[in-house]
Amino acid sequence: MTRKYNFSAGPAALPDQVLQQAQAELADWQGKGLSIMEMSHRSDEFVSVATAAEQDLRDLMQIPDHYKVLFLQGGATSQFGMIPMNLLGQKTQADYINTGIWSKKAIAEAKRYAQVNVVASTEAENFTRVPRADELNLSAEAAYLHYTSNETIGGLEFDYIPDAGQTPLVVDMSSDILSQPVEVSRFGLIYAGAQKNIGPAGLTVVIVREDLLGQALPTTPTMYDYKVHADADSMHNTPPTFAWYLAGLVFKWLKAQGGVEGIAEINLRKARKLYAAIDASDFYANPIALPNRSIMNVPFTLADTQLESRFLVEAEAAGLLNLQGHRSVGGMRASIYNAVSETAVEALIEFMQHFEKTRA
Ligand code: PMP
Repeated sequence: MTRKYNFSAGPAALPDQVLQQAQAELADWQGKGLSIMEMSHRSDEFVSVATAAEQDLRDLMQIPDHYKVLFLQGGATSQFGMIPMNLLGQKTQADYINTGIWSKKAIAEAKRYAQVNVVASTEAENFTRVPRADELNLSAEAAYLHYTSNETIGGLEFDYIPDAGQTPLVVDMSSDILSQPVEVSRFGLIYAGAQKNIGPAGLTVVIVREDLLGQALPTTPTMYDYKVHADADSMHNTPPTFAWYLAGLVFKWLKAQGGVEGIAEINLRKARKLYAAIDASDFYANPIALPNRSIMNVPFTLADTQLESRFLVEAEAAGLLNLQGHRSVGGMRASIYNAVSETAVEALIEFMQHFEKTRA
């Protein structure tokens, strides 16, 4: 098996060990004579896999008992609509912080159901920093406050948890969940598409405080009602069984890395090294304010944009894949999620330095 270094923003790199284990038990899961994909989701075997995955995630994030963990489909994008449908209750307004492309998508969808108050935005500064706590203009009438803890495309990450007082705090943690410890009890709801730090695409994890369930708008489709999924342990209909199983393997792998605390140390080291290399050169640049630089997604530009395609071709030849920036912003982006090793980041830095030298 020749595995290259994969810096994809998502679907993203998975740990080698996880893929090897999945491969080893693909056709015959634990001597049962069939694969996990071919089993009923209600079988004892699958239920044990599902329950263990949930427990491991609870352990990793220290999720309190009064939170439900849901394993859903539809991606984080479905959550953009499910959140207002489920959390508005009797209210009509919701607060949103705008820090980039994913915030804007969440805002646009919420506007179909709610009066959205954009309580702070750094768009005028090209989203090069997150709003400060004292810039949040929160409204008393809001059903919840929503923000995106890590903007995957902009490479912009909150360095604090906003304080919304009694108003439930909702966070899109798609691209930084499990990358460093967070205090779950600060949130009303946390959601994340799986395809970065959790597992393969097709699975969406929602962690929701129990008291927020049961107030969905009357027109909410059954499949979009959190309470339906919570009451059925995410088995109201057929869940994405293979993705759930694979997420479970990733959680076990993460526990073996020292859990979220252990991986956070490695993540910080990886990010520091990469930003240091960018900052040490006039050839590469990253525009984000230092405290808000993402430890998961590192966008960078080349001083000479003419060299971008050459950079990508040579990087690929050197075994460094998927470094192209998002189509909406261009430039380069290295996504360095949990499963991207420090060795991979070191190889990238070495390549960048070599590329710069040969072009200087
Ligand atoms: N939010 C963020 C922060 C994301 O990075 C993404 C996907 N890259 C989404 C939402 C949308 O996720 P999905 O494709 O799972 O709907």
